[in-house]
Amino acid sequence: RLSATDLTAVFADFQRAVERDRDLLTELDTAVGDGDHGTNLDRGMRAAVEALAAIPQDTPGGVFNLVGRRLVSTVGGASGALYGTAFLRAARAAGAAEALDAATCTAVLRDATTGIAERGKCATGDKTMYDVWMAASTAAAAAAGDGLPALLAAASTAAGAAEQEMVPWQARRGRASYLGERSKDHRDPGAVSSRLLFGCFAAWAD
Ligand code: ADP
Ligand code: MG
Ligand code: MG
Repeated sequence: RLSATDLTAVFADFQRAVERDRDLLTELDTAVGDGDHGTNLDRGMRAAVEALAAIPQDTPGGVFNLVGRRLVSTVGGASGALYGTAFLRAARAAGAAEALDAATCTAVLRDATTGIAERGKCATGDKTMYDVWMAASTAAAAAAGDGLPALLAAASTAAGAAEQEMVPWQARRGRASYLGERSKDHRDPGAVSSRLLFGCFAAWAD
């Protein structure tokens, strides 16, 4: 089961992963967008982790809520609103539970994913971070009966596969869509950062 302390550690790990891959994320966004995804998410996750240290939370829902609010307030770009909405929906789904089991995690991931679709007005196949979240959410639901570590491992594997699979696609949402056909054969920055996030959850469970 995933406690508030565990979730805080997962977000600290994600912050370090984003910091480490900040230049990669920015390079990917320079090719298809405005070149700020790495700096956007790095700034947002630093602020989120600082907030978690300053205001410790005793439920996973509280952790998701604080991270979501910090991302929305510190990241100007689309990804701040999208990740922020995902985590705020996750907080709502987690409610006041002291720790998340496989069933709750499945619901949390499903609601977070729906939040991205609503906020981004996007669908699967649009070649955005949503494709990665949808793949992770679907795999998690299929693995829900196998326990939390297996669920998180399945979600991470599916996220990585989705991020690779969509590389040849044409983007239909976000700045990359302005490139039309020229958005093909590029990795989507938000898909890559989302894949990092699911990798951090799987690493915690491992
Ligand atoms: P911005 O595009 O505002 O500069 P970022 O560079 O931080 O924001 O994030 C870009 C990422 O956000 C994209 O790679 C994509 O995954 C995601 N994204 C952008 N617009 C949408 C949308 N409408 N729906 C879903 N995801 C989106
Ligand atoms: Mg950008
Ligand atoms: Mg921008």
